[in-house]
Amino acid sequence: MLDTQTLERSGKKPETGVVEAVRAASSRELPSLVHKIDAEGYYPESVMREFGRLGAFAHHLPSYSESVDLNAAINAMAAAGEYCLSTSFCVWCQDALGWYIYNSDNKALKTGIGPQVARGEFLGGTALSNPMKTFFGIEPMRLKGKRVDGGYVVKGLLPYVSNLGDDHYFGAIFEVDEGGTKRNVMAIVPCAAEGLSLADNTKFVALDGTRTFAVQMRDVIITDSWIVADPVDEYIKRIRAGFVLLQAGMAFGLIRDCIRLMEQTKTSLGHVNKYLDVQPEMLAEQLAGMETAVAQLAATPFETDPGYWRAVIEARLAAGDATVAAAHAAMLHCGARGYVTNGAAQRRLREAYFVAIVTPATKQLRKMLADMSH
Ligand SMILES: Cc1cc2nc3c(=O)[nH]c(=O)nc-3n(C[C@H](O)[C@H](O)[C@H](O)COP(=O)(O)OP(=O)(O)OC[C@H]3O[C@@H](n4cnc5c(N)ncnc54)[C@H](O)[C@@H]3O)c2cc1C
Repeated sequence: MLDTQTLERSGKKPETGVVEAVRAASSRELPSLVHKIDAEGYYPESVMREFGRLGAFAHHLPSYSESVDLNAAINAMAAAGEYCLSTSFCVWCQDALGWYIYNSDNKALKTGIGPQVARGEFLGGTALSNPMKTFFGIEPMRLKGKRVDGGYVVKGLLPYVSNLGDDHYFGAIFEVDEGGTKRNVMAIVPCAAEGLSLADNTKFVALDGTRTFAVQMRDVIITDSWIVADPVDEYIKRIRAGFVLLQAGMAFGLIRDCIRLMEQTKTSLGHVNKYLDVQPEMLAEQLAGMETAVAQLAATPFETDPGYWRAVIEARLAAGDATVAAAHAAMLHCGARGYVTNGAAQRRLREAYFVAIVTPATKQLRKMLADMSH
């Protein structure tokens, strides 16, 4: 397979174990589902459950796994992303949820729902787009909490939170204003909490199979047993690199498929496609470089050096740019066969933009880099 060749060229060993198991499950399950996921917004729940049984959501979790292996998580996500970005994004959502739980000091969560999240028995996601934008000066906090006996009462609306359902969970951050002193608190929120409602009122051009809902919280009681960080400041520094680096899995999977699509057209269209600026070999080389860079950064997700954080932002920006460029190139190579309603190239192009707009979006990453330079 191309990605294996790429890895060999970059001097890395081809992965075995969980990544190969997820790749095998993806190649068996996803090709027949991907059109339904894309066109009908079908949520690939059974595939997610199977990934969980295979260990796809567990390897990056501190104290749950023997080592914090972000690269296994990234490459498992990429294996799914070679077929479908909706599924790959659901994997990221699930990975982020486990990442929040196992990076907290909340023992009850780590021994309670934690193992079930790691095994994909409880599914869920993350509502951190809004606070991640708040922390970098883009928009105000949408969730507000008030301290009460034994916990907080939280209200507010989040427009998009994915990988949800009535019995799912998600990580969220709310702002608490106590006598003019503000702080942010993070908790794991059960979708079944009283006062919480999910509204499915948006149809997306892609990624519609991700069970993405608007989440309304009307005086939802979050008891102290659900809190993962209060206040969040130091905790955010601990989780942020992992949060961002894991997203590379979506990019790598999609780019690999774009390279494959381009190579597939060689036999019949190579005589004319060779005049296009971007060729699959160039993309494979670029991908190998990004994989190596991300693998190095992902080996030390708790590094505190500002230069490390900057490199993470740069790697994420490069991944988003390269994903859109690869999907654009695949579209040009495939031509009309990619432009039909069930053509893979046009689906991959629509999906690719998601990598560049999901938080941290390209514009946010560029702002963060600009702010770092001041
Ligand atoms: C398919 C999909 C799944 C997503 N899943 C998640 C998730 O699981 N968790 C999560 O936290 N975020 C999720 N998001 C949000 C995403 O991460 C970005 O925050 C979002 O794409 C906007 O980012 P932006 O930086 O381009 O902000 P901008 O587009 O500049 O938007 C600024 C603000 O306006 C809001 N906004 C944009 N459109 C609307 C609208 N139609 N109605 C109300 N508000 C709107 C945005 O959410 C944002 O807060 C999802 C988005 C999409 C498209």
